[in-house]
Amino acid sequence: MLELDRAGLERWFADTLGEQRFRAHQVMKWIHHRHVTDFGQMTDLGKALRAKLEQRAEVRVPDVQFDKPSADGTHKWLLGMDGRNAIETVYIPDKTRGTLCVSSQVGCALNCQFCSTATQGFNRNLSTAEIIGQVWVAARHLGNVPHQQRRLTNVVMMGMGEPLANFDNVVRAMSVMRDDLGYGLANKRVTLSTAGMVPMIDRLSVESDVSLAVSLHAANDELRSELVPLNKKYPVAELMDACVRYLQANSRRDSITFEYTLMHGVNDRPEHARQLARLMRQFCNTMQSREAAKVNLIPFNPFPGTRFERTPEEDVRAFQKILIDANVLTLVRRTRGDDIDAACGQLKGQVMDRTRRQAEFRRRLQEQGGVDHAA
Ligand code: SAH
Repeated sequence: MLELDRAGLERWFADTLGEQRFRAHQVMKWIHHRHVTDFGQMTDLGKALRAKLEQRAEVRVPDVQFDKPSADGTHKWLLGMDGRNAIETVYIPDKTRGTLCVSSQVGCALNCQFCSTATQGFNRNLSTAEIIGQVWVAARHLGNVPHQQRRLTNVVMMGMGEPLANFDNVVRAMSVMRDDLGYGLANKRVTLSTAGMVPMIDRLSVESDVSLAVSLHAANDELRSELVPLNKKYPVAELMDACVRYLQANSRRDSITFEYTLMHGVNDRPEHARQLARLMRQFCNTMQSREAAKVNLIPFNPFPGTRFERTPEEDVRAFQKILIDANVLTLVRRTRGDDIDAACGQLKGQVMDRTRRQAEFRRRLQEQGGVDHAA
């Protein structure tokens, strides 16, 4: 059931069950507003329909493997997806909003040098159900009732994985996040963050209406290609052109956030700030709006085995000042949840790699007394 958005569910009720569309709406409300997954408890449906649903469908939500609050109010869940893989979802409360950081893949294939998710390699895409299931788990925990108690106000697709590499599932899940029958979030409050998959940014510009964040980390190709290998395929100039097209495609979009993780001695020198300022000014000039670009500086969050270090506070301030003096809107993202490894770039989940999977398969086969040709 969680695989489908409103349109898909309406079609399924009509075509498969011969039921009216409003039945789909009732079921969505039970699932997303009241967190009920058992059709037997959906009391406004009628006995016959409940029995039909029990036979033909299921609402499969992620299995909470552990649940970890941080000292600063941040909350992290490790969610089992299929008995083998687990991913991480993080909730970050603030004075005025509550943001959920959602994963789109188990692992990631992009190999950004400073991201801990990269160290585990890529395992698979998450399904629509597994993506929206993360919001379901958090909303249930927060006791969220849309329009009444808005503790979950924003979603950022900034957890594990590259969301644009799992386009259809991510777009469908984001549509449930924004649907009143789902989580009722405003378009602007759902943000997709990408390392820069240019053709998919163009697809997103016509197929969805969410906010876009682009992980830049360097304003020149040489350094960016080192940090974000995807840059060799889609260099900075092409990426910035795609950002212009994204804003131009829809007049309701007014800005793009550019994320820049500051790594000491790597991309945090004054000349890097000046290069970034120049690139952002160019972009704002093309868009004829000073507010078209918002820079988000993220002090690097370390993880075991990394060769990078966090930029000291005064250098972060100096970097920010160069941008602000050049008239570029620039914020520093406060580090949250790093005591529970929940900060940006610290999410790892649990992935069984191929070798371990094969060993496990053999062990089970032996347990069952089967023949193991591979052994
Ligand atoms: N693949 C997507 C979304 C996941 S990363 C993307 O690249 O945008 C979410 C953000 O965290 C990105 O801006 C990423 O560059 C940043 N990030 C990754 N590792 C980090 C680290 N160790 N410290 C700080 N930020 C990090």
